[in-house]
Amino acid sequence: RPKENFARLNTSAKMLCIPETDPEFALAALKKLLTIEQEWIPGLAGTSLYIRPTIVAMDPYLGVRPSHTYRFFIILSPVGAYYPEGFNPVKIWLTDKDVRAVRGGLGMAKTPANYAASLYAAEVAKEKGYTQVLWLDGVEQRYIEEVGIMNIFFRIDDTLITPPLQGSILAGITRDPVIALANHWNVPVEERPITIDEIMSAHDKGLLQEVFGSGNA
Ligand SMILES: *Cc1c(COP(=O)(O)O)cnc(C)c1O
Repeated sequence: RPKENFARLNTSAKMLCIPETDPEFALAALKKLLTIEQEWIPGLAGTSLYIRPTIVAMDPYLGVRPSHTYRFFIILSPVGAYYPEGFNPVKIWLTDKDVRAVRGGLGMAKTPANYAASLYAAEVAKEKGYTQVLWLDGVEQRYIEEVGIMNIFFRIDDTLITPPLQGSILAGITRDPVIALANHWNVPVEERPITIDEIMSAHDKGLLQEVFGSGNA
């Protein structure tokens, strides 16, 4: 879904005072690059070619202001499963101390700043034997926001529940088709705030059926 991804690149760029990229140009450039590098597309099951359009500031300047010059480039890399567990369940650490984003901040932008904010808690999780972090909201630390660098879904009593995009959660391009597929399969979907207490109580009642993250990596 390159068009949606390039649209989000621009949404993120705007939030960071980076000029927008012409989506038609970006798509044409991507197609050309993929044609040139097509032999890098891996063929084994569970593998794919990861595509990462990137923009970085290029001004040779020390100080705090938006750059006047930028470079747009696309990284390709053959990849397997994102986590060392492969496509098996992962252990998730719930942090009630660190937060990755707050409403009004950069949570809705795909930017390394958010990854920087997430590293410390992820390291703590790893030390404790967990693969990733479950993020709660930055204000009350009750509402579930994301898991690792993925959007999160809960299947409770046959209903699919995912937190709404209210300003601190990244609008995943993979999140949309998950919701569309569920609708297509007549699985009820609710986009609404969900607290960690609700998850614990659903689990205690035996109603928590599945928890999964969505993201193209
Ligand atoms: C990339 C990312 C996602 C998933 O987005 P997709 O477009 O579905 O890959 C979710 N949350 C965060 C914080 C991300 O960086």
